[in-house]
Amino acid sequence: MVKKETLLIVEDEADIRELISFNLEMNGYEVIKAANGEEGLNLARRLQPDLIILDLMLPGADGLKICRQLRSESHTKNTPVMMLTARGEEDDQVTGFAAGADDYVTKPFSPRVLVARVKALLRRNGPAQETTSNQVVEHHGITIDSARHEVRVAGKSVGFSATEFAILRFLAENPGWVFSRHQIIDAVKGEDYPVTARSVDVQILGIRKKLGAKGDLVETVRGVGYRMRGE
Ligand code: CA
Repeated sequence: MVKKETLLIVEDEADIRELISFNLEMNGYEVIKAANGEEGLNLARRLQPDLIILDLMLPGADGLKICRQLRSESHTKNTPVMMLTARGEEDDQVTGFAAGADDYVTKPFSPRVLVARVKALLRRNGPAQETTSNQVVEHHGITIDSARHEVRVAGKSVGFSATEFAILRFLAENPGWVFSRHQIIDAVKGEDYPVTARSVDVQILGIRKKLGAKGDLVETVRGVGYRMRGE
């Protein structure tokens, strides 16, 4: 029997926490729960869950702060994070991606949709992906190591979220080629995964920032999309 995947829910509202937990357990996941950010952070460090569902609005340290912290620590820097936000908090969603979240679900949400998104996010980060693509891509001083899920810039390891990693790898594997936002979405996620063109822009901004001096290798092609600079 396969070991159950463990998911951590960090949500202060008990009824939402229980609703999510119930639906995930029904789908065969092991669930651990935290009612605030600090508790969530401690559980994430100790138990290293396969995915974290993180509410944005939390008492004390909020979801953005917790997400940044998770990204800065070696044991959790690659753990997929699904952020929960309230309807209309478009800016918060954008900030969530900048803080390193991989996806977000807007409240109120349908439990079925949430479970589907969790599954998609786990699939993207699962072992299947690593075995199909475990080569090392090197491009202009950027090394993308799929087996280790690591990006090195001029030899130095930089923490990338799962989505940023997938986009960077896709562009770097096809240097010089221009891709539309929708092609990028399809390439990194598959069709069952609803992510907006706008969120690709935000991920690209995050990637450039993390690449530092190498950030301008990821070029905007006006009216078309993005490409990794070729030779
Ligand atoms: Ca909340």
